[in-house]
Amino acid sequence: MHVPFCVSLCPYCDFVVYAGRSARGPGSRVDDYLAALAAELDLRADALDASGTARRPLRSVYLGGGTPSLLPAADVARLLDHVRDRHGIEDGAEVTIEANPGPDERGDLAGFAAAGVTRLSLGAQSMEASELRRLGRRHAPGDVLAAVAEARRAGIGSISVDVLYDVPGQTEATWRHTLEVLLDAGVDHVSAYALTLDDPDAEGLTGPLGDHLPTRPGARAWRERARAGQDDDRAADLYALADELLARYGLRWYELSNWAQPGHESRHNLAYWRHEPYEALGPGAHAFDGRSRRRWNAARLDGYLAALLPAGPPGAAAASGPLPRLPPGGEERLDAETFAVEEAMLGLRLAEGIGPEIAARPAVAAALDWARGHGLAEDRDGGRIRLSLRGRLLSNEVLARIARH
Ligand code: SF4
Repeated sequence: MHVPFCVSLCPYCDFVVYAGRSARGPGSRVDDYLAALAAELDLRADALDASGTARRPLRSVYLGGGTPSLLPAADVARLLDHVRDRHGIEDGAEVTIEANPGPDERGDLAGFAAAGVTRLSLGAQSMEASELRRLGRRHAPGDVLAAVAEARRAGIGSISVDVLYDVPGQTEATWRHTLEVLLDAGVDHVSAYALTLDDPDAEGLTGPLGDHLPTRPGARAWRERARAGQDDDRAADLYALADELLARYGLRWYELSNWAQPGHESRHNLAYWRHEPYEALGPGAHAFDGRSRRRWNAARLDGYLAALLPAGPPGAAAASGPLPRLPPGGEERLDAETFAVEEAMLGLRLAEGIGPEIAARPAVAAALDWARGHGLAEDRDGGRIRLSLRGRLLSNEVLARIARH
C-alpha cells in the first residue's frame, strides 16, 4: 500500500510523492487519501472474490511511500484491520512500515507495533551530515540512531535501513563510516542502492496514465549537477566494500542491493524477485497475478481520488451518489516467453540464483555462457547458477543480454 506523502521532496526521488501542504496541516489530503485507499482495497478484493481465485492469507503487508510513518497509528491500525478483514493476514506475517528518521517524521513507532507492524524500513541514506544535506534530506545522523533505539524499545523485531552510494562527494571513508555506525547500532537488514538519477519524463512514464509524476525543474537541475559528481568505478569499489563489511557483521547478500542477518530477509521483496503474486494499492502501485497479468495505477492523485471518491471527500457522499470505481492505470499481458525471461532476470538478482531448468532455456543459456566465460556467473550445487561479485557489478549487462535474446 503506497502512501504518497512526504514532508518535503528529495531532489533525486522518483517515487510518487506529494509534499508540503498536501502532507500535513489544514490543507492535508491525507484523510481523503485514506478513504480512497480503503475504497480501492474493497474494489480490488471484490474483484478477486468474483474471479473465484483461491486465496490464502497474506504472508506480508508493506506500507511504503512516501512516508507512511506520517500516518497516525490509529489510521495504520484501521488499514491493517481492513486488510485482515478482506484478505486475511497469516500468523507471523511480515508487516513493514517505511519511516523517515526525523523526530517529526518517524511517527508513533510504539503505536505502529501495537497495530501489528513487525518490521521497520528506515530511510537513513547516510550517516554523514554533509551527505544528508547534499541529498536534500531533513534528518541528521543522530536521528537514525534515535529511531533504531525507539523501534527496538517498541518491540519491532526487524529493522532495515536504506543507504545510498555513488553520492557526489562520498568517499570510501565516509561510506565505511555510514555502514559501520549502522551495523554497530545493530540493524538487521541493509538495502544499499546506487544513487540513480533517472529522467522519467524522457522515458515516457509521466503521461496521464503513467506510473511516475513529472520531474520538477529544480530536481532536474539538481540531478544534472549531481551526475557530474558520480563515478562508476568508485561506485563499484563502494559496492565491493559494502559486501565485504556487511558479511563481516553477519549480514549476507541475498539480492543485488540487499543484505540481511539470517531470517531477516525481506519476505515482501523476495516475492517480487521470485515472481510470486502480489496485490498493490495507491497511485503508482504495481500488482502481479503471478502468471500473466501485471497492472499499475496511474501516479496522479487527483485522478485517483476522483475515481474512488466520486461524491467528494468522505462524509459528503450522498446515499444515491455515484459509486467508487477503480482508478485509472494500465496493464500488460505476459506471454510464456516473456514470463520465462523475466523469471530468469529476477532470479539472477538473488544469491539463490536460478535452477537448471530456467538456466537451460534458449533465451537464457547463451547469455549465461557468455557471463560464465567472463567470470560474471558461477555454478552452484544442484545445477544452480548465480552472479559472481563481478557479475553483480555488471548485472545490467548480463540481464540486458537475456532480455535482448
Ligand atoms: S523521503 Fe523518500 S519518498 Fe519522500 S521524497 Fe525523499 S526519497 Fe522520496
